[in-house]
Amino acid sequence: MKAHPICHTCGVQFAAADEPPRACPICEDPRQWVPEDGQRWTTMDELAADHRNEVREDAGLTGIGTAPRFGIGQRALVVPSAEGNVLWECVTLLDDETAEAVDALGGLAAIAISHPHYYSAMVEWAHRFECPVLLHRDDARWIMRPDPAIELWDGEKREIGGLTLLRLGGHFRGGTVLHRPDGDGTLLSGDIVQVIPDRAWVSFMWSYPNLIPLPGAEVERMARALEPFAFETIQGAWWGTTVPRDGKAVVRRSADRYLRALAGELL
Ligand SMILES: [Zn+2]
Ligand SMILES: [Zn+2]
Repeated sequence: MKAHPICHTCGVQFAAADEPPRACPICEDPRQWVPEDGQRWTTMDELAADHRNEVREDAGLTGIGTAPRFGIGQRALVVPSAEGNVLWECVTLLDDETAEAVDALGGLAAIAISHPHYYSAMVEWAHRFECPVLLHRDDARWIMRPDPAIELWDGEKREIGGLTLLRLGGHFRGGTVLHRPDGDGTLLSGDIVQVIPDRAWVSFMWSYPNLIPLPGAEVERMARALEPFAFETIQGAWWGTTVPRDGKAVVRRSADRYLRALAGELL
């Protein structure tokens, strides 16, 4: 059987092939990077040989992250909904131990991913849990392993079991966040709204590794799109990246600071 090559830098799995692709389009895009010594490829079997997944609590949800760190290092979150668990984001490694841990939580009703940097091995996960992967159509060109399990959605919003997927754009045209209304509300933000070391602030970028900002009008549009949603906490893309309180005000004040910086007012 042909292997599905996996890009070592971004962790995205490609369609089956005899040879790995010449390049990874996701890493060649200015929003990622290619290592100085060139592109490297791996497979799920190779990855499983020296990595495992940690499945543990992260700010009230169950997180799944690979150790040692692989690719961009994000951890996924299992988010309960009225239709069953939604896996928010995804990781590349899927082994039996992880699958059994997710089964014990009730399995998955759907997988939803903020943007192509976390597409990882989403199709493997969808097949194992017999569920769809919900992706925004505006980012369809970045799907490296097409599959019938992938369900593209259009427009600004999509509801799933009381949760809302909101297209926020910015970092990617189809950049998506997930709003969970339970409790005081949580925004699961990937790196569309980036949780930074000072938890009283967040930030926004077009390219994080290459430090290329977004236009002010786009950041303002993103902040406005979040205005109808109530949320105290913001959960970013990595273990422990949580804004614990006042999330909505944090987004507003951070967008204002960003606009002032772009206008030269902080110089
Ligand atoms: Zn890549
Ligand atoms: Zn990204």
